[in-house]
Amino acid sequence: MNLSASPFSPVARNPAILIVDDAPANLGMLRTMMTQQGYQTFVATTGERALSIAQRVRPDLILLDVVMPGMDGFETCRQLKEQAATARIPVIFMSARTDTDDIVAGFDIGAVDYIGKPLRMAEVCARVRAQLQMRNNAEAQKEQADRLRMIVHGMEEGLMIIEAGGRIQYSNPACERYLGYGPDQLAGHALPDLLGASLAHEYLDYFAACALEPAAVHQGGAREVLIRQCDGAQRAMDLTVTPMVSGEQLFIGLLHDITHHKQSETALQHAAMVDQLTQLANRRRFDTFLENEWLRAMRSGQPLSLIVLDVDHFKLYNDTLGHAAGDQCLQQVAAALQSRALRTTDLAARYGGEEFVLLFAETGHDTAVVLAESIRALVESLHLPHPRSPTSAWLTVSVGVATIVPAQLDRIEQFFVAADRMMYAAKEAGRNQVRAIRHGGEAWETIKSMMLL
Ligand code: GH3
Ligand code: MG
Ligand code: MG
Repeated sequence: MNLSASPFSPVARNPAILIVDDAPANLGMLRTMMTQQGYQTFVATTGERALSIAQRVRPDLILLDVVMPGMDGFETCRQLKEQAATARIPVIFMSARTDTDDIVAGFDIGAVDYIGKPLRMAEVCARVRAQLQMRNNAEAQKEQADRLRMIVHGMEEGLMIIEAGGRIQYSNPACERYLGYGPDQLAGHALPDLLGASLAHEYLDYFAACALEPAAVHQGGAREVLIRQCDGAQRAMDLTVTPMVSGEQLFIGLLHDITHHKQSETALQHAAMVDQLTQLANRRRFDTFLENEWLRAMRSGQPLSLIVLDVDHFKLYNDTLGHAAGDQCLQQVAAALQSRALRTTDLAARYGGEEFVLLFAETGHDTAVVLAESIRALVESLHLPHPRSPTSAWLTVSVGVATIVPAQLDRIEQFFVAADRMMYAAKEAGRNQVRAIRHGGEAWETIKSMMLL
């Protein structure tokens, strides 16, 4: 970072020196010397005058005679140090009084240097140059510190300085805000207060490793952690911890808010599993669910029942009443299906355009048939007019049911095909009805052998 090019740096100008001496000869000589050095000069012959010029021009340095009529140099310096605007201006005393007591008194008042008279001009120039250099360095350091403070205070990310023992030495306002602490309330807490003992110890081990072999330990990168807020609630955030490049064993912790990511992640996960039109589970979600329930049924020996449902003459419905009416219709059929999926182990899904499925775990054949029939009847009882249907005045559905207690050699595909075949059997038999099959019977064996071909 090039600080000198930053908009915060003052415009470079020649240093301004205020020379204060009641002897005009001294004043003239000093002024000439200082001008030759390239400095801007201001002069005063009294303390009072010096104070007023210092207030107005804020010089970079003051050369101040000690012995003057009226207000002497010490008093002038005292008053300069009392005023905020002039307190930081370095003052160099010049005096023929070079007793140790005088010199010590001068430094005590706040002078940065003390030059004995008669003045040796080369020495005055060297001392002035040295003081200006020091002042420049101090100003640059202060400016840099101010800028850093401003950045750290204004940043969106939470920043903590952590000691190797886990104590939080500093936290910025964003950090306090994220974790619900008031200003300066977080400093002094220990890492386990925020991260819990086990995670905190992982970091403490990392700190210890850094102490042993600083070069070998590289940054771990951002890591999602659960961090405890002031009120005890947990919050997921990204945490990056890196060693500070300094002699001290200190570490910087950066906390990054991931609430937005979390929300969109959840929304994406939801969208990936849910059918947008009906809000039922989609095919992908259903397939995963069926696989899990299949394995569970295999272990438990409990029956599994699958319903496959297809809207009758739906193409005709769309053609007659329009696609939008068709969509509403699908939503109503979906709601009818969902009203029968009451247990957490039941799952209704939209499997394709106007084809729905419903899985009942731990449900035998007879119960499944009753449930299938109740869904069929419920859809019919909605009395959704289907003016051109050749089989009913209302919208109806055909339903196939298959039940199985899955064993090692059975296949999910067969189970699915069996239910689907039953749905088509219901269509062929005149639609608006339920057809069912159970594993082990002759009909099932036929389906199996047809699938093997
Ligand atoms: P069948 O009684 O034999 O099932 O006849 P069908 O007309 O219902 O069967 P077919 O498979 O020929 O037609 C299905 C129709 O479902 C065709 C398609 O336009 C419609 N469809 C599929 N998805 C949607 C959808 O999301 N919205 C609407 N409105 N219609 C859909
Ligand atoms: Mg159909
Ligand atoms: Mg269909």
